[in-house]
Amino acid sequence: MQRLVHRYTITPFQFHYVHESNKLKKYFTYKDKQNHLRRSSVVYKLTCTCGLNYIGQTRRNLITRINEHKFDQRSEVCKHLLAPKHHFNFKQPEILGSIVGQKKLHLLESHLIQQHQPDLNIDGSSIPLLLFNA
Ligand SMILES: [Zn+2]
Repeated sequence: MQRLVHRYTITPFQFHYVHESNKLKKYFTYKDKQNHLRRSSVVYKLTCTCGLNYIGQTRRNLITRINEHKFDQRSEVCKHLLAPKHHFNFKQPEILGSIVGQKKLHLLESHLIQQHQPDLNIDGSSIPLLLFNA
């Protein structure tokens, strides 16, 4: 009889509650970074290790545009990279805003360029901001 009781005795379970929500967050960090670069219709900011920065926009995946900056010598970012000891964190560009529609995206980019005054944007803005400058 004792043998049977021992056989069917249920050992008590121990529950551990995870009450800090940021513990879960660390498991999704990698996925979030990937999604960040897959976003489209965004205005982004790249900052060099020297502190100079560039603001651009793309309707495509952000990673596609970022890769163009690395190798397209017409890009101000690429030109800046030719100077020794200058690096951009291409894996984590800052997304300043997002909006659907080409004209709206250009308008948002122009507004943010005026607001942030990035060092490496030679154009100043993609479209004139007559309404904002009046
Ligand atoms: Zn630099």
